[in-house]
Amino acid sequence: MAVTLRRPDLRWPIPPEVSALLPGQRIEAIRRRAKYLLLDTAAGSALLHLGMSGSLRVLPADTPVNAHDHVDLALDAAGRGRGRVLRFTDPRRFGSLLWQPPGTTHPLLRALGPEPLPPGSGGTAFDGATAGGAVFSGDYLFARSRGRKAPVKAFLMDQRIVVGVGNIYAAEALFAAGISPLRAAGRVSRERYRLLAGAVQAILARAIERGGTTLRDFIAPDGAPGYFEQELSAYGRGGAPCPNCGRPLKQAWIGQRATVWCGHCQR
Ligand SMILES: [Zn+2]
Repeated sequence: MAVTLRRPDLRWPIPPEVSALLPGQRIEAIRRRAKYLLLDTAAGSALLHLGMSGSLRVLPADTPVNAHDHVDLALDAAGRGRGRVLRFTDPRRFGSLLWQPPGTTHPLLRALGPEPLPPGSGGTAFDGATAGGAVFSGDYLFARSRGRKAPVKAFLMDQRIVVGVGNIYAAEALFAAGISPLRAAGRVSRERYRLLAGAVQAILARAIERGGTTLRDFIAPDGAPGYFEQELSAYGRGGAPCPNCGRPLKQAWIGQRATVWCGHCQR
């Protein structure tokens, strides 16, 4: 491929390896780890993060370049990408393009907890090799939470514990498992963490199947927003009746994030 960088930095400076080593390489595999996309080549892996507003599109090579089109990877004329570019567009520039030498794990990926879904399920393409061998489960959450006083919702959203469980999915999983988001992480039993882990996996798998939660999270190639939002039980429903018991759902702030739960069904 040929590499065109239209600026030296995005959220962080683009490392020199991207322009020195990536040109001429063939993309052997594409993987995802947390919110990072890895384009694997023999020379190393390009690490892409879309930030808040980034997008990655495969376009005909002669597509006119706009102000926020920062990176083009021209796909090889001999391959299936003939005459096309992989274009990274990012108006707000919170995205990043970084480099990971072969056989190493980038520092940003090293501290991440395991993926919540097993490899190959629900659109995950990650092989698990950089998660330090930890596998997400109720027993794993139980072991990591001992002695922790932080609210279980903050614990579940901590990327060092498990990646990919954002505010919406944490609220929904805690509702499904009947656990109060305010309870100290260290005071949740093993049995209840098993319920919670199952709820996290079921909710993420369903959300992926339904095309994500909101327009902010996901836009299908045809521009349609995801439809999962219509199925939410707790998130965004503070004051509305609990779907289980009909009592009004409570709302409070944990850290910077609004959280909604049922004081009757979640303990
Ligand atoms: Zn309830």
